[in-house]
Amino acid sequence: MMNRKEDFLNYVCQTSSRPVGLEVDRAAGSYLYTREGKKYLDFISGIGVNNLGFSHPAVVAAVKAQAEKYLHVMVYGEYVQAPQVDLAKKLVSLLPERLNQVYFTNSGTEANEGALKLAKKYTGRKKLVSFEGSFHGDTQGSCSVTGRDIYRKPFEPLLPGIQFLPFNEVDALGMIDESVAAVITEPIQGEGGMRVPDEGFLKSLRARCDSVGALLIFDEVQTGFGRTGKMFAMEHWGIIPDIVTMAKALGGGMPLGAFAASREMMRTFSENPPLSHVTTFGGHPVSCAAGLAGINVICDEDLVEKAEADGEWIRSYLRDLAQTGCGIQSVRGKGLMIGLALDSTVLAEHLVKGAFDAGLILGWTLHTENVIRVMPPLTISRTERQEGLDVIRQVLALNVS
Ligand code: PLP
Repeated sequence: MMNRKEDFLNYVCQTSSRPVGLEVDRAAGSYLYTREGKKYLDFISGIGVNNLGFSHPAVVAAVKAQAEKYLHVMVYGEYVQAPQVDLAKKLVSLLPERLNQVYFTNSGTEANEGALKLAKKYTGRKKLVSFEGSFHGDTQGSCSVTGRDIYRKPFEPLLPGIQFLPFNEVDALGMIDESVAAVITEPIQGEGGMRVPDEGFLKSLRARCDSVGALLIFDEVQTGFGRTGKMFAMEHWGIIPDIVTMAKALGGGMPLGAFAASREMMRTFSENPPLSHVTTFGGHPVSCAAGLAGINVICDEDLVEKAEADGEWIRSYLRDLAQTGCGIQSVRGKGLMIGLALDSTVLAEHLVKGAFDAGLILGWTLHTENVIRVMPPLTISRTERQEGLDVIRQVLALNVS
């Protein structure tokens, strides 16, 4: 008899020695259902993707409708495809005026690759600056600017001319000089442990980039589309980058990434040589149709404001819980991008495992093992919110370490 779990382990490349291994039957709203009939409440949104929960009906309808019209028709940038054009126009309407043209990719890492290439070609400079604790993706360019050496070392040599600065340290920004093409940063570090920078940091970074002529790239792959209680996290500080990258929630559950910049900057891809940066599948019409449907739901249902209010409520609940001495060191984040810093990695493991056994999906952040990710869908109901928080409280109450 077929054993799919065994086939998964044998035939699908494993990326850890301990995969969660949950066998998905279906998923809808905030819940995932297994083949054995178990139900899990997803408090990580498939790692920041499902801002509308699983399989939102508006997204599914858009996917079906577009699939019946056409799938792939031509490599990127040659034909006029309504889903791409309409989504690009919508994104531009949501972004600051300076970011008025969009290039679509398939993923977040590709969006960052494109942004880095654009910065180098536009400025004619070679050096790139990034921050310790950052995560920008796993292709070689994005890996080169990811700020944790254990993830870079096995793949060296990577891109030359990368400098890492400490995140959130204004004094270090003086290291950015006239040789720098671009500085890339997440406005709030996700895998770095949901780190929100101090009030003046991004403003000082913007000012330093301006004074030396370096471009500023914001990686909003994880923070975008209402996750932090603003449509884009940059709005918390009113800082406008030269290039912004997006993915994850952009496609409403379909693979889609993008970067936006000014038309003048983007022109560099169409000359010297023409076709300087192309992609076969980037901006797939089905993904773009899904993305537009998802963004319309976010806007029409005021989910950005809801994320801000729900996030405030959850953080306040967790801060009260921290007062009970259950091992919560601090509660971080903005909106529904929340990090729960625990006293130890052992306790973090206890919480993730205990929650899973009780039907709640939580997760680690890649670079910060004691910080647990709490990122429920923006559509989460009050009852679901309470259900998840009750599990966290109960599991931490059983902490005996
Ligand atoms: N940038 C950030 C901030 C991310 O969190 C991620 C993924 O977690 C990426 C880039 C890479 O995106 P993708 O996995 O779609 O390539």
